[in-house]
Amino acid sequence: MAETHGNGGPTDNRRKRASGSFDVASSEPGSIPNPPCGACKFLRRKCVNGCIFAPYFGSDQGAARFAAVHKVFGASNVSKLLMHIPVSRRQHAVVTISYEAQARLSDPVYGCVSTVLALQQQVLEVVGRGQAGLGNGSN
Ligand SMILES: [Zn+2]
Repeated sequence: MAETHGNGGPTDNRRKRASGSFDVASSEPGSIPNPPCGACKFLRRKCVNGCIFAPYFGSDQGAARFAAVHKVFGASNVSKLLMHIPVSRRQHAVVTISYEAQARLSDPVYGCVSTVLALQQQVLEVVGRGQAGLGNGSN
């Protein structure tokens, strides 16, 4: 029997932005500034209320980070991926996706696997040294 996944989107009704002052410098939590989020800015699209990227790609810096993510994974894929992740864990996902994207751009062949391999090599060396030390411990 088929089970239906209760995959309703986040019921995250954002507060309507307070009209009036347009303050670029302030970063008040909860208030959505007028300009689009970094992702929408990069994609040159309208940043809708409840934009899935907005909490994670806020500023101009967000646009630069999103550029790498979009280049490697594609905005649509990342958006779909985030929708399948609980809201509480999306921040972590964005951090690791950004990391992976940056790594892939700087190393098109190995990406972040080069880091994994380097660390594995280090572990092997440390373990090897430890075993050698156990082997002839007398000095
Ligand atoms: Zn947006």
